[in-house]
Amino acid sequence: MLVDTHCHLDFHRFDGDRDEVVARALEAGVSRIVVPALDLDNCAAVLALADRYPSVFAAVGVHPNSTALWSDGWIETLRELAAHDKVVAIGEIGLDYHWDKSPHETQQRALTQQLELAAELDLPVIVHNREADSDVLRLLEQSALRNGDRPGVLHSFSSDWEVAARGLELGYYLGFTGPITYKNANELRDVLRKAPMDRILVETDAPFLAPQAHRGQRNEPAYVVHVAQQVAAVRETSLKTVEAMTTENAACIFGRDLLSS
Ligand SMILES: [Zn+2]
Repeated sequence: MLVDTHCHLDFHRFDGDRDEVVARALEAGVSRIVVPALDLDNCAAVLALADRYPSVFAAVGVHPNSTALWSDGWIETLRELAAHDKVVAIGEIGLDYHWDKSPHETQQRALTQQLELAAELDLPVIVHNREADSDVLRLLEQSALRNGDRPGVLHSFSSDWEVAARGLELGYYLGFTGPITYKNANELRDVLRKAPMDRILVETDAPFLAPQAHRGQRNEPAYVVHVAQQVAAVRETSLKTVEAMTTENAACIFGRDLLSS
């Protein structure tokens, strides 16, 4: 059994064959999929998927690229959305200085307030970080979010070991995606090699970041198996061990309900 801890299953690119995508995931042993929201508009779609598919769980939050019009009142809406019984995290939230779609100050304000909400609700966070290492670490460090010392996941981790080590110290898990299978990803595989096994999660970030075996195609949850295989290769262990560890890690962070239903 595997958990794809990050997949945008609500995207239009899945409209034509969403049932088949979920079925293929189940056939591949991917029996849980966590779908994070990106803004207040798609939260409803994400929660509808969680209602429709027993294997789908949800996170609600506002992605940094969607914070340009951030209003403090959005927290109240997120609080209401988070009451849904299949919401397992606040996400995805963070900072993105690459696309720069919202002023840095606004992104930071949205991240800080959503970290506060997660702390209040005792939920973990799914953190997006693009070219914003030091500000992300600073805001996570300042946050009161502990969630039983499992505050969240640094999703699709792509920074260096120094950032990983600091995140691990703060209690964060590292989410690994398709890029660990790319030929030029030696630095990332080095981070993966050094990270404690009990802090590693596997994710697809589908429809993006297809693993090497499917590069150029639409990614989908079934392909998280390729990520797990790469973890096994780098860690010189069996796929079975990686499946067991990462599934246990997902339950530790997102809660036991993830596996019980
Ligand atoms: Zn994402």
